[in-house]
Amino acid sequence: MAHALKKLSAQVIKNNNLESIISNAAVRTNSTWWGNVQMGPPDVILGITEAYKKDSHPQKVNLGVGAYRDDEGKPFVLPSVRKAEEILHKKGLNHEYAPISGEASYTDAVAKLAFGEDSPVIKEKTNCTVQTLSGTGALRLGLEFITKHYAKNKEVWFPAPTWGNHPQICNMLNLPHKKYRYFDSKTNGFDLEGALEDICKIPEGSIVMLHACAHNPTGVDPKPEDWAKLSQVIREKKLYPFFDMAYQGFATGNVDNDAFAVRLFVKDGHQVTLAQSFAKNMGLYGERAGALTFLCGDADHAAKVMSQVKIMVRTMYSNPPLYGARLVQEILLNPELKQQWLVDVKSMADRIISMRTQLRAGIEGAGNKHPWQHITDQIGMFCFTGLKPDQVERLTKEFHIYLTKDGRISVAGISSKNVNYIAEAMHKVTC
Ligand code: PMP
Repeated sequence: MAHALKKLSAQVIKNNNLESIISNAAVRTNSTWWGNVQMGPPDVILGITEAYKKDSHPQKVNLGVGAYRDDEGKPFVLPSVRKAEEILHKKGLNHEYAPISGEASYTDAVAKLAFGEDSPVIKEKTNCTVQTLSGTGALRLGLEFITKHYAKNKEVWFPAPTWGNHPQICNMLNLPHKKYRYFDSKTNGFDLEGALEDICKIPEGSIVMLHACAHNPTGVDPKPEDWAKLSQVIREKKLYPFFDMAYQGFATGNVDNDAFAVRLFVKDGHQVTLAQSFAKNMGLYGERAGALTFLCGDADHAAKVMSQVKIMVRTMYSNPPLYGARLVQEILLNPELKQQWLVDVKSMADRIISMRTQLRAGIEGAGNKHPWQHITDQIGMFCFTGLKPDQVERLTKEFHIYLTKDGRISVAGISSKNVNYIAEAMHKVTC
């Protein structure tokens, strides 16, 4: 009997082991903690770059990517940035943590650049400005702060169309978002009437996102008199303006001109929120130097908002990266370097403007009968060409020119060497 029991229990143990071996194997081979995760779509812009890289055609062109290139088609390190790098290197700085909100000397300098040295914002310290992980980080932090602390209507209104990441950030935060009319496809320009009509109907307290300059993806900016009307309607309807300024200096070549809309709104009494980026205007794409500012009415509210922003930052990434911010600070606070930077920014904007002129002249010179004035009317890094998806497809398939399906081209990808080729191709797919 005892022997039979012993044999039985040995068998049970063996079976149990077998079961656990089988079930472990199942965990290893068939199942995962992430079984519910579906494959997401690739990023549209990065997908274009991938396809471009695989293409071996000698005349291939990438007009998809939103990064400045020099006339050789190469990434450009601004001379002012090179100088700042050398200065920083000589300083032999340490790598201690930055404060949660970034170095105060950085946030002061970038706020002055946006609002102007003499702005009452700066004098009365009504701003809460923190360093962020470039422009995207500023938008994310700003919108997340709104989901938690904003007491009014948490609905964000974007121009149609807008930068693809804007609605994605809202989706991530479960923040409802809608669109107001912005681009007029008949004129390839700004739809002022449509925008005013739509903005008039936005519920009080909602957030209106505005591209401060060099609108992405259209390259269409409101004129100063249009901005004045937008400011008036937004004030009358008690809406909350949130500016995204990713291209200060890139539109006109002048950082003060490009800050016109932000400064006008401040002058008109709006308490704006502002996302800034130094990716484009300093060529610091990968260094992730940006800033988020909430204007808070007075220094007391600014301090309270700052205390809560810091708590939010602390739980996300503790404190921001130092290197890019140090470069920005060095440039903005050293008068000689700043002067050099202003020249550098202008040189980038001027090259883009000259490429626009040459592209338009090339298409028109080929005898194309469609209107192409919008190429030179539009501003900044991007041009909304008006090309239809089938024409875009032909450009890519037949001419190895890569761009987004909506017909947006990054003018920064055009050079004196490829402009005629692109013009000829654009003529052929549209004539
Ligand atoms: N806003 C807009 C409209 C942009 O086009 C970009 C860059 N493509 C950004 C914000 C943010 O860029 P980054 O995070 O590189 O500063």
